[in-house]
This record gives sequence, structure tokens and C-alpha cells, in this order.
Amino acid sequence: MVTLSSVVRPLASQFHRRLVRHAKSHRITPARRCNLAACSSKYVLSQMHPMWQGPLVVPGGDNQSPIDIVVRKSVFDSELKPLVTDYDPDTCQQIWNNGYSFLVEYNDTTDKSTLKGGPLQDTFRLCQFHFHWGESNVWGSEHTVDRRMFPAELHLVHWNSDKYSLFEEAVMEDNGLAVIGVFLKVGKRHEGLQKLVDALPAIRHEGSVVEFTRFDPACLLPTNTDDYWTYHGSLTTPPLTESVSWIIMKQHIEVSHDQLAVFRSLLFTSAKDDVQKSMVNNFRVQQPLCGRTVRSSFIPFLQEVSSVEGDKH
Ligand SMILES: [Zn+2]
Repeated sequence: MVTLSSVVRPLASQFHRRLVRHAKSHRITPARRCNLAACSSKYVLSQMHPMWQGPLVVPGGDNQSPIDIVVRKSVFDSELKPLVTDYDPDTCQQIWNNGYSFLVEYNDTTDKSTLKGGPLQDTFRLCQFHFHWGESNVWGSEHTVDRRMFPAELHLVHWNSDKYSLFEEAVMEDNGLAVIGVFLKVGKRHEGLQKLVDALPAIRHEGSVVEFTRFDPACLLPTNTDDYWTYHGSLTTPPLTESVSWIIMKQHIEVSHDQLAVFRSLLFTSAKDDVQKSMVNNFRVQQPLCGRTVRSSFIPFLQEVSSVEGDKH
């Protein structure tokens, strides 16, 4: 018997592979319309990437991402453990402009670069990291904290290598992915990030790939990785599957305005396109919480917005 999932899953897997590995077309749209509050504060969405325009093609659910994290509604969970990251810089392979962001891709054929602990029961393997950012420093992050937007957000994407044998399999399954989110704020130049920033001019156009090796993504984590929020959500790009354990760091990292300016010098467009479009505002609009609980690894009543803003490292 042909079940719906037996048809949808292979199709969606191909869909995601095309986007993540070999994006050529971006006529892809989100499952849900944004809520009005998010839209009004992000009026720039009307000029956003074609991926988020046109008729709906992806079925939605009640566990979509990104969301606004309401600090006073998050629930402290004393069972949440510290994160354990073990990254081997030698697994870093290349950087790729996929027409929506740039991906720093890692060799994920073995468990050499892994994430464990936190809310996770299994071992998750790093496959890539990327960022989302705005055209100015006022917005750009996908998640927000008490409606506060950050200029950019880092996503370190891992898949469950205890349960699945390939990323393409894990992406469709419950408990398949674990993504660490880190907010970027404008301040001091980030020395660890600079090696990556220096490589970006070589992948200015969509579809460009260059070798990029020996980069330790741990340098992009905040000094305190014990304090985080976690919730069950989705990919924020198609296929938007609800397979993600999100781990959002409470502490941000700082990067300089000039470093973010290099992100903004990238292009959504290929060298063959007549009109070139700057790669900015590559975030998805916020999604309704739909009754989900956001858990925190730290006691939230002392962690109001002023404390989040006051983090230094
Ligand atoms: Zn992302």
C-alpha cells in the first residue's frame, strides 16, 4: 500500500537536498503566514527573498520555527544538562553560497564533530553552520527574546547519528535534528569569525563554493553555554519539517559592524543574473507557539530582558 508518508517523505527529502545542497530555484514558500506583530515590525519582508513569496506549497504544522521566546513564560527545567560539544576542525570542508545564506559544511560521515547533553538523549553530528542577518543592525535574527531582535543569528545544524544514517533521513524524522542558535550583537570584532569573513568574497555569487578547512565552530559559541532555552520546532527553510530540538543560547556573541558588512556584501544572485541582489534579510518570519513550552536551563525569574541585554563575555 502506498501511504502518504511514503510519497511525501522522499519528495520532501529531495526538496530539502535541492535547497541545502544544490539550490538553484527559490520559488519555495512557507507553510504559514506570519503573525501581524512580527510582520509589522519587519516591514522589510515585502522585499524578501523569493523563497518566501507566492502560493503555499509546504504543509504546515503546530511546531514551526522561529518563535519569540517570552522569558517570563519559559519554564526552568532542572533536568536540563550542560551542552557537550566536541568539534574536530579537520572535519571542516567548504563554504557554499546557496543563494539564501552561506553554509560552512563539515564532513559528517563519522562521529568526529558531535553535540551531546543539554536536552538531548542521543549523539548528534555536525553537518553545517550558517547565519541569518538583516540589512541593518536593527533586525536579522530569526528567534527573538521578549520581542527583541538581534542583527544576526548563527545556526549550528546537527543530526541524530544514533538513530539515523544520513542527514537526509534524519531531517524528516522526529528527534532527527538539533540546532544550536546563537544571537550576534554588534560590538567588538570577533577574532575567531575573521578567518571566515576573509573567505567570503570568494563566494559572493549564488552557487559559488570554495574549500575552507580547519575551522573550529566552537569559537563561535558564547563563553557560557550552560544557559539556554530549548523547545521543539522546525527547520526555518523548506521542507520546514518539525524535526528540530532547538537550543537557543542565552548569551550572545559580539561581532563588528564591518564583519556583518561583509555578510551583507554577498549576493542572492548568480554571476549570470542581470540584476544583482544583496544577501540581506534572509530570515523566516515568526511562527505561533501553539501551546508549546519553552524550557530554560537556568532559573528564569532573574533573567529578564535587562539581564539578557547585559551579558558580556
Ligand atoms: Zn538557519
